[in-house]
Amino acid sequence: MGSASGTRADGLVIAIDGPSGAGKSTVAHLLAERLGYLQIDTGAMYRAVAYLMHVDGINPDDLGAVERFCRHIDIRLDRADGCQRVIANGRDVSSQIRTPEMSLLTSRVSALRPVREAMMQVQRRMGARGGVVLEGRDIGTVVFPDADVKFFLSASAEERGRRRFQELAAKGEHVSLEETIEAVSIRDLQDSQRDLAPLRMAGDAIAIDSSGRTIDEVLDTMVSVCMNTLHSVGN
Ligand code: C5P
Repeated sequence: MGSASGTRADGLVIAIDGPSGAGKSTVAHLLAERLGYLQIDTGAMYRAVAYLMHVDGINPDDLGAVERFCRHIDIRLDRADGCQRVIANGRDVSSQIRTPEMSLLTSRVSALRPVREAMMQVQRRMGARGGVVLEGRDIGTVVFPDADVKFFLSASAEERGRRRFQELAAKGEHVSLEETIEAVSIRDLQDSQRDLAPLRMAGDAIAIDSSGRTIDEVLDTMVSVCMNTLHSVGN
């Protein structure tokens, strides 16, 4: 894995990639908390771009318009009351970006080159000093190929669909379990078959299957890998 942590001022760069519903956000949050690091939810950033494009009526097929639009987007991640807030062009869009429609639109929009280039620049800037846990699809392969620790978190499609369904139901979204499992599978397919930065495991990532494992079990594995890495680089 990468060896740049010695030169990073604030600690390790930790990448957590994997398909939707694998539990990345939950463990990224807990891992960041445990290490005193910043959590960077890159999926939320792509969701915010998709939402802004939707609101502004930008056609994803019009690459010129997408490119012009991307020159003026400002996406920030803030924390308030222990919750991560997503601020897009000055507006808090944290709840609007979490609908099933936005999930599918995001998967389409995130395949566009101008969108990926804009977000990658922001993510690299955010993580440059280290002390970060970045979660996404391409962190260990494209954004930070020299990340100090890389995890690839997965779970069976049924389990991921069921988790997503429970999340949506808890928020009062009217969706069926079958629809949710299907939507998760469509998104997996789109995310892993696109030309740019497809979802795939980095050769030097540690694979963790979260099916049938508790959050604490997954977290313990991750914490011990990170601690070993910190000790080995002497931070
Ligand atoms: O992680 P989350 O499900 O919120 O991500 C929403 C979508 O954003 C994904 O389905 C994927 O299309 C896109 N994404 C991406 N690259 C990332 C993170 C998310 O393309 N690093």
